[in-house]
Amino acid sequence: MSSFPYRVSFMIVAAKSEIGLKKCMAKFREKEVFFMTIKLFYEDSYITNFTAHTWEQFTDEANRSYIVLDQTAFYPTGGGQPYDTGTLNGVQVLEVEDVDGQIRHYVDEPLPQQDAVQGQINWKRRFDHMQQHAGQHILSAAFEDQLGYSTVSFHLGQDVCTIDLEVAQLSEKDVAVVEAFANDIIQQNLPIETKWVTEEELSQYSLRKQLAVSENIRLVIIPNVDYSGCGGTHPSSTGQVSAISVLKIEKQKNQTRVYFVCGHRVTNELRTKQAVVQGLTNLLNVPESKLVSAAERVLLQSKEYEKTIDELNEKLLAIEAKDLLHEASSIHDLKIVQMISYEYRMKDLQKLAKMVLKEDPAVVVFFVSERDNKMQIVCGRGETDLDMNLALKGVLPLINGKGGGKKDFAQGGGEPIRSAEEVMMELVKTVR
Ligand SMILES: [Zn+2]
Repeated sequence: MSSFPYRVSFMIVAAKSEIGLKKCMAKFREKEVFFMTIKLFYEDSYITNFTAHTWEQFTDEANRSYIVLDQTAFYPTGGGQPYDTGTLNGVQVLEVEDVDGQIRHYVDEPLPQQDAVQGQINWKRRFDHMQQHAGQHILSAAFEDQLGYSTVSFHLGQDVCTIDLEVAQLSEKDVAVVEAFANDIIQQNLPIETKWVTEEELSQYSLRKQLAVSENIRLVIIPNVDYSGCGGTHPSSTGQVSAISVLKIEKQKNQTRVYFVCGHRVTNELRTKQAVVQGLTNLLNVPESKLVSAAERVLLQSKEYEKTIDELNEKLLAIEAKDLLHEASSIHDLKIVQMISYEYRMKDLQKLAKMVLKEDPAVVVFFVSERDNKMQIVCGRGETDLDMNLALKGVLPLINGKGGGKKDFAQGGGEPIRSAEEVMMELVKTVR
């Protein structure tokens, strides 16, 4: 493997000697020369520490400090792969970006002046990216090989990766076949090679996907499995991907999104899921194999309970309605059913009012309920021509309330800033 396009670009602007490099850097600082960084991760994706002898610090438009080195093993964001983190002379590298071939290492504090810079890559993070990235090549190749479905895009997330397939429907059975095929490629421990090629040389390879670039073409090759143009970092063999696990599939218009994890993430995922399963088996007191049927049973039971509670509640309200009618007071010729409650919710207040009115259409009903730091009012009437909406609107300002309804039935609520008795008194006044 060679990284010649980058090395050549670099040598055009800088002499081979270190003095040449320093001069070049000085000119770069004066913005006279554009300086390209040698990308060590293309020479060997396993380089975890390196020394750069020529370097400069800059500040970008957003006033963030960044370091430019003559060479680096830090991978910058690109090609769907996130940037590396690590340190430069012990200072944390927060983010790495490639700006036209020049790699900027954003740091959280300025670097002390020293002749050389020692770079250290956060290998755990980088190797995880390598596993996910190579796993994506393998999974996409497996979908292509087994079902003829092309991958249109790829996302490497912090926890989960996705590929979007150019197919509207995908069955669980298909997923199982492809997943097994992909894991078989991993177990065969095939080499993963990289090659810089010219546009002319491309015709020798059967590429999985059309390339977006026509120069500096880098191929990532798993012989007889996958030939893809890719600028990311990958392990040297499929075995190091360890495993691929498809977590779920999701329909996205005419495409299907496949969520998956590779490598160490598979064991992490398994541990997380195992904790959930263990928690549920303890709660439901059944073995793992009977979890689904046990959960179904619990849900069904709870629906039945809800139904029973509703029926009982209905019966209770009917009894309450009769009791309230017995206690009704009379003003002139009008019978008024008043109730102040500290337990009824609005839904039951309305139901109870309607039951009372059904039992005796000649009455007027005024209910005031105070509960959960709210005051609620229900006003209703049967055959009389009193305006309940007007009665309600007359008292709502007392409790900063809102509400309304029709002439025969209205409801509203507000804050319990006046006592329920006071509000009731005001309501009764409206019919006097
Ligand atoms: Zn790749």
